[in-house]
Amino acid sequence: MIRTYRYRLYPTNAQARALDFLLWQGRTLYNAALEQRITVYRETGKGVSYPQQWAHFRDLRHANPDTLGQLNATSVQQMLRRLDKTFAAFFRRLKAGEKPGFPRFKGRDRFHSLEYRHGDGCKLRLGARTMFYVQNAGEVKVKFHRPLPDDATIKHVVIKRRASKWHVCLMLDLPDPVIPERTGPAVGIDMGLAHLLALSDGTLVENPRWLRQSLAQLRVAQRRLSRRQKGSAHRRKAAAQVARLHERVANQRRDFWHKLTRQLADTYSLIALENLTLAFMTANRHLALSAHDAGLAEFQQLLAYKAEEAGTLVVTVNPAYTSQACSACGVVVQKELSVRVHVCPDCGLTLDRDVNAARNILMCAVNPARTGPPGRNVAGCGARALESSLL
Ligand SMILES: [Zn+2]
Repeated sequence: MIRTYRYRLYPTNAQARALDFLLWQGRTLYNAALEQRITVYRETGKGVSYPQQWAHFRDLRHANPDTLGQLNATSVQQMLRRLDKTFAAFFRRLKAGEKPGFPRFKGRDRFHSLEYRHGDGCKLRLGARTMFYVQNAGEVKVKFHRPLPDDATIKHVVIKRRASKWHVCLMLDLPDPVIPERTGPAVGIDMGLAHLLALSDGTLVENPRWLRQSLAQLRVAQRRLSRRQKGSAHRRKAAAQVARLHERVANQRRDFWHKLTRQLADTYSLIALENLTLAFMTANRHLALSAHDAGLAEFQQLLAYKAEEAGTLVVTVNPAYTSQACSACGVVVQKELSVRVHVCPDCGLTLDRDVNAARNILMCAVNPARTGPPGRNVAGCGARALESSLL
């Protein structure tokens, strides 16, 4: 089992400069390797493989001890592999008939991380004062806010800069946990627009107040940024503020999701969700969903691994009709997005629209073969729900 633990680094000014320099070298290397691939293809019509690139840049590294040579050798390999993967993904998507963007050169604002193998160019030193050693940057202070599990082995390390703060992500290899047998109720969850989440038992979850406040601040900062003249010092300042607020929102949201998904995974034995990818395809194109989607994707990801450890089953279902069908009798009640309450003309059920959807989602997951009375469409269940996959 692989888990990532992230810790904040507190480099001194000199160390921060050294880390910046390493990041700069990493970016230069990445761009040079990309350029090599493009040039060789233009001149010979052939691609360049990872081993060929490594041979080239290994020599270059030895020839330039003050620049590229400052980067750890394994780190250089990881970087070249990163590019190799980018190309592999590009060609795979091309083959599949999609329209992928060509791998791009990385500008200063698009390159944030260096990868290492633990013990090779970097090392976590546990002690009274936990430090993180980085080759050519030195012993950097770590805020060691939580201990590593006893039986963890650190495999891969990523050093990241986000809005001028540094973090280290430790990829840990842990023995597979013993998964407990779960008993507990089942729940359906609708990921709505008016409510963040609606549960089939009637619970509504909203964005917490402090997150809404940060989002409001972010909107103001973004407006300020858009009014500033391009290339001006004021604009740079405004952009830095937007980046800081983005980071704060992301942190608050992650924290919130961590706590909520923990609670859900520990309470229920089965959690049914809409299949997000399908939900996007069926969603109204006019809805501006992107930020919202990003949050929900994170929610699903965190829920998936917490549920796995807790022995809770997470099932995704086709979202078709889940918001329109009546969860009591199955009749389809068409309603606009602005209509927040589900009122059934047939059986008289009156319920919050999203709670009604959550109940339908739960039904699809628990009883995929459910069919309604003749001539009635039951909440997208039936054959389509058989495609439900475990997250
Ligand atoms: Zn009804």
